[in-house]
Parts: sequence; C-alpha cells; structure tokens
Amino acid sequence: MTQQAMIDLRSDTLTKPSAEMRQAMAGADVNDDVIDTDPTVAKLQTKIAEMLGKSAALFMPSGTMTNQTAVRLHCKPGDELICEEGCHIYNYEQGAYASLSGIAVRAIRGDNYELSLSHVAEMIRPDDEHTPRTTLVCLENTHNKGGGKILNFDDVVEICSWAHENGLKTHLDGARLFNAVIGSGISAERWAEHFDTISVCFSKGLGAPVGSALVGDQSMIAELRRHRKLFGGGMRQSGIIAAGALYALENSVQRLTEDHENAKLIAQTVSDVDGLSVNESDVHTNIVIFQVDPGLCSAPEFCEKLLAAGVWTFPFSNTSVRAVTHLHIDANQARRAGEIIAETANATMNVSS
Ligand SMILES: *Cc1c(COP(=O)(O)O)cnc(C)c1O
Repeated sequence: MTQQAMIDLRSDTLTKPSAEMRQAMAGADVNDDVIDTDPTVAKLQTKIAEMLGKSAALFMPSGTMTNQTAVRLHCKPGDELICEEGCHIYNYEQGAYASLSGIAVRAIRGDNYELSLSHVAEMIRPDDEHTPRTTLVCLENTHNKGGGKILNFDDVVEICSWAHENGLKTHLDGARLFNAVIGSGISAERWAEHFDTISVCFSKGLGAPVGSALVGDQSMIAELRRHRKLFGGGMRQSGIIAAGALYALENSVQRLTEDHENAKLIAQTVSDVDGLSVNESDVHTNIVIFQVDPGLCSAPEFCEKLLAAGVWTFPFSNTSVRAVTHLHIDANQARRAGEIIAETANATMNVSS
C-alpha cells in the first residue's frame, strides 16, 4: 500500500502545509520574540485575540503548553481545578497540573462527556484549612474524547456564570474551538465571552504545522510570558511558524465545513453496517467514534484489518474506533473509507459466522 493510496484518518494533526502556506512561512518577517517582538507573531496574536473578542493572546508551541500555562496563571500550589473526567487536561498532559504547578484536580463524570450546572454546583470546597482551594473550572470544546462533541451553549454560559459568581476563574480548552464555531454557527467571540482564558490550536483541523495560542486579557500577559518562559516556550524567530498559523486562520476556518460533512458521510455508511454502530447525531464535527460489536472482533483487531485494506484509524477502546477527517481527506476519500469499513466488517462477519 503506498502512502498516497492510504486513507489516513488517525488524526487532524497529520496534515502537511500546502505550497501556499509554506510560501507564507518562507517569506515571513521575523525577529527575536524573547528579546524584542517578532512582527509576524505579534500579528497572529492580535488576529486571534480579535477573533475571540479579547484584548491579548500569547503564541506557544503546543496546546499542552497553552493549557498548562493557563492552569499556572489561574491557580496557586494546593489549589484545585474542576473539569470533566474525559478532558485532555486531565488525561493526556501527563498530570502536568500536578507535576509542574502543584494543582489538584476534581474530575467529574459528565453526561456523555458533558457537564451541566448540576454536576458542578456542589463541587466548590468549603473555606476550611483541611481542604484545597477550588479556583478554576476548565471546559473543553469541542470535546476530543467525546467524539468532537460541541458543548451545549446554555450549559457553558450557566457553568461560567456560576463560576464567576463564586470567585472562580474559567478556562476553555478550545483546541478545536473553530470546529465548534463552524458546527454550531455560534461565533468564536460568543463562545469565548464566558471564559477568562481560551486555548486554541492551529495545528489541528486548521492545518498549520505548529502552534497554539492562549487568548485572554492584556493584564495577564506579563505573568503569562513568565510561565511560558519557565515551561520552555520562549521562542526566538517564531514568526516562521506563526506565519503558518496566520495563513491557516485566514484560509482554513470556513473549510472545516467540509471535514464535518465528510465525517457525516463516514458515519452514515457505518451506521448501516451489521456489527458496527454509530449514532449519526453524535457526530457533531470532524471526529467519528464507532462501536465494534465484540462478536465481530476487538476494535484493535478491526483497526488492523482496516489498515490492511487501506484505511488507517486508531482503536479508541477495546470496542470503539476513532476516525478523524481533515484537509487531506476529500469527499471521495471519505466515501471510499466508509465503503472499506463496511466491506471489512462484512468480510469479518462472514469468516466468524
Ligand atoms: C491536541 C489537543 C491538545 C494539546 O495539543 P498539543 O498541541 O498536542 O499539545 C489539548 N486539548 C485538546 C482537546 C486536544 O485535542
């Protein structure tokens, strides 16, 4: 199987910069962004802050760093943050909140990965010398482990209002915020309005090679720059990579619609296949998580069979598979991927029955 023939649905981080993006990067005006200011980084920061209706942003190498510097900004050692149990900050960042910042986490199981006010309302610790101090609420939109789920807007507003009334800060892990924007029709500014800080990744569906931004208020920037430097994220002529992110913001936001349509195409095909199941209405954006009936085979085994047939996916658990659409996948490939998934399930069914 050649690389070209393979339909790679493992992640939306696999995309490579287009010729036009590379050209924008090669021609970027740059300067040392630690000693002075890199003009392209500054332009990117101004643009993403404006898009989210905030006064400032800081460019960093990764979404892990923007999340963890936000945690560091909002919390002191011994504080506790509240989050949904399946979120990235809790599961996929090595417990950095604890190892880097001395923070405890109260992870709450949502309904299908979603928190509402009733889940969190009793979760603020009493002011007592025995307990950690509850200081931050983190939400994730779209929710990665939740299959690219777009959070319910009213629940988000309710939780954030409650948090602020109780003196807590709010942070949004918006690694895929623009998928939520395109999928919901609710602007980035409206989503962002309710959060003190928002992390946005340029290296996911937007298709830039590197980078994330933490967006918030001008007053946080001096302190945030300290945390970024401490965590090793002070970058010099980073306009080279910021130019890719800027190109992505200017050219790749609207086209996320195609990724969402292609994910729907895959889900529609898979929902008709015996031995596989997916709820089409759960596919909100560019991620499809489908279940593999254990009578067919395990999900890791199914992924092996798919790979041999030309579709590359990740097993998400022993019984579920994740497929992600992105800018290297067009509608024909999405349709073909759906067919291959169906053919593979049918062939497995015929062998096992
Ligand atoms: C990818 C991702 C991150 C972290 O991004 P990196 O750039 O890989 O560190 C954070 N949150 C969510 C929800 C993500 O999907």
